[in-house]
Amino acid sequence: MIDFDLTEEQQLLGQSVRQWAAREVAPRIHDLDRAHRFDTNLFPQMAALGLLGISVPQEYGGAGMDYISLGLASEELEYVDTSLRVILSVHAGLNCLSLVAWGTEDQKQRYLAPQAQGKKIASYGLTEPGAGSDARGIQTVAIKKGDRFVLTGEKTWISLADVADHFLVFAWSDLDKKRQRDPSGISAFIVERAFKGFSSGTLKEKWGILAGNTGFFKMEEVEVPAENMVGAPGEGFKIAMFALDQGRFTVAAGATGLIRACRDASAAYAKERKAFGVEIAQHQLVKEMIAQMESDYQAARLLWLRAGWLKNNGRRNTRETGLAKWFATVASERAAGDAVQIHGANGYSDEYPVGRFYRNCKGAVIYEGTREIHKLMQADYVLGYRVDRPTRCELPPYAEEVKRQKEEGNRSKK
Ligand SMILES: Cc1cc2nc3c(=O)[nH]c(=O)nc-3n(C[C@H](O)[C@H](O)[C@H](O)COP(=O)(O)OP(=O)(O)OC[C@H]3O[C@@H](n4cnc5c(N)ncnc54)[C@H](O)[C@@H]3O)c2cc1C
Repeated sequence: MIDFDLTEEQQLLGQSVRQWAAREVAPRIHDLDRAHRFDTNLFPQMAALGLLGISVPQEYGGAGMDYISLGLASEELEYVDTSLRVILSVHAGLNCLSLVAWGTEDQKQRYLAPQAQGKKIASYGLTEPGAGSDARGIQTVAIKKGDRFVLTGEKTWISLADVADHFLVFAWSDLDKKRQRDPSGISAFIVERAFKGFSSGTLKEKWGILAGNTGFFKMEEVEVPAENMVGAPGEGFKIAMFALDQGRFTVAAGATGLIRACRDASAAYAKERKAFGVEIAQHQLVKEMIAQMESDYQAARLLWLRAGWLKNNGRRNTRETGLAKWFATVASERAAGDAVQIHGANGYSDEYPVGRFYRNCKGAVIYEGTREIHKLMQADYVLGYRVDRPTRCELPPYAEEVKRQKEEGNRSKK
């Protein structure tokens, strides 16, 4: 049975995020972006809305909401600014959901619970100066010494690098396997900013998502207790990929929100601006761009909803989530380019938001799998070179909970 209805809880969540972002962030975002300022006051506000632990089970201090809710929140946040959605992707998606699925009970109590309540902020460190798409090329090592691992290496292009308290870090714990580039030699660790030998900085030359924080961190012989290893030794690569299935979902839904923002800004401007004696909205070539934005928006939304449904039902979804991320991010680039075009010279200035949309959209075509990596993945699925097998991937209680809410909603309508 196909059911496109949102539950009352999902609708309320979407509305409250939309209203909060419109009220508290939209009026200030132009200034924050121009000042390259990341506003850390957003954390307590997002925590109060339940967003920082949105899909973390309530027993660990989260809101216990399903994946569709996570997608709706991502869409609404990026409608206002990409930097807001990045917080959700990195903290609530890549990090928290990995700990939900892979963390020990002790890790859930010590790290996940404070993160879900917004008392601590968390990020994800895979990329290095010499390794992005080719994650097996990372150089960070974790050498076992007694009851600790000593981590040495550098991570770069890390969202929230200068503000997060905890990082999910990937490092080679088996040096023989490192030499052979065998990913079963990579392990995952929770590294605290407070650990000795840890330092971080902000990437100041970045030209998009300027109201967000992106940086690097270095680990010089950082001693990490063995109990901070997430998963078993050698499961780090699997965890990194699991995390990307969560992060990519939020990126897909967020980019969908960005397409909607481009569509709405373009439609409003096209009805205001006149050329050749009529509103430019009357010119068919302008209409064509707006129609393309609408079809991209609707298609992108269906793709992330489908991925979310699979996730809610505990089904493997790497293929569908990757497709949703690839389609939505490439479409958002098209929408932002056309939004600038519709605004003419005004689009080429920061007086209107579309210039910011244009700068912001590009990042998502690069992070969490570049456009090219996603193309290769999708082709390989079609060609049968790549097959996903069921794994301990998702958190099935969500489906039951959503079903219960829908039945309750239907009963109250009768
Ligand atoms: C704003 C922003 C935030 C980020 N946040 C994080 C974060 O929080 N944590 C984190 O770990 N990382 C983060 N990243 C890093 C991001 O994940 C990497 O940039 C991404 O994986 C690509 O790696 P790269 O930049 O090294 O490009 P490269 O891998 O060097 O790729 C360069 C080009 O070569 C192409 N290419 C590479 N391999 C192939 C191939 N096999 N076939 C065809 N083309 C190929 C790529 O598609 C790309 O066009 C962030 C990046 C940005 C821009």
